[in-house]
Amino acid sequence: MFREMRRKRQKLSDEQTEAVFEHATHGVLSLIGDDGYPYGVPVSYVYANKAIYIHSALEGHKIDAVRACDKVSFTVVDTDDVVADEYTTYFRSAIAFGRARILEDKNEKMQALRLLGDHYNPGHDEALEAEISKGFERLHMIEIEIEHMSGKQAIELLRS
Ligand SMILES: Cc1cc2nc3c(=O)[nH]c(=O)nc-3n(C[C@H](O)[C@H](O)[C@H](O)COP(=O)(O)OP(=O)(O)OC[C@H]3O[C@@H](n4cnc5c(N)ncnc54)[C@H](O)[C@@H]3O)c2cc1C
Repeated sequence: MFREMRRKRQKLSDEQTEAVFEHATHGVLSLIGDDGYPYGVPVSYVYANKAIYIHSALEGHKIDAVRACDKVSFTVVDTDDVVADEYTTYFRSAIAFGRARILEDKNEKMQALRLLGDHYNPGHDEALEAEISKGFERLHMIEIEIEHMSGKQAIELLRS
């Protein structure tokens, strides 16, 4: 049911698409929000085990939307070089569609938090464990199981 990209030359391979998810520093989580208005919220994340992990406050629009509907999409941009005199941008981006779930199992939640912390501050296990123990009960971890992903780059990047 997921659409094919119209401009196939610009489509990234699966490996290149994964690299975009690995390199981008944040993404926009798109949810079906209040009254059916789309809610796109920027978040930090880690891409691991072919899934996306996000931490969240225990309450709020985002978590209410995930509880109401597990169908989500997640968009990242890892390159956006504006070329003013060409009236364009040389971009590389990726979009995933999937199902979100709040990790209720403490072990699953802990693993996901470790992945997220280590992604942003690799190799600082002790500091990470201290940070996790401070915040563990005050946050949710959301896992997005990816059902479909695509990556796209500007036509100009094909030539470089
Ligand atoms: C680069 C970046 C990384 C972030 N990383 C994380 C993360 O990893 N985890 C996390 O939980 N949050 C992160 N945030 C903050 C995130 O964007 C939300 O503000 C936060 O998650 C609260 O969302 P909520 O739906 O619970 O907020 P609520 O306060 O319940 O949202 C209520 C309303 O406030 C407005 N609102 C909420 N967030 C924003 C926003 N960012 N900008 C403008 N209006 C907003 C919207 O109108 C929303 O409907 C990040 C933000 C940025 C910019």
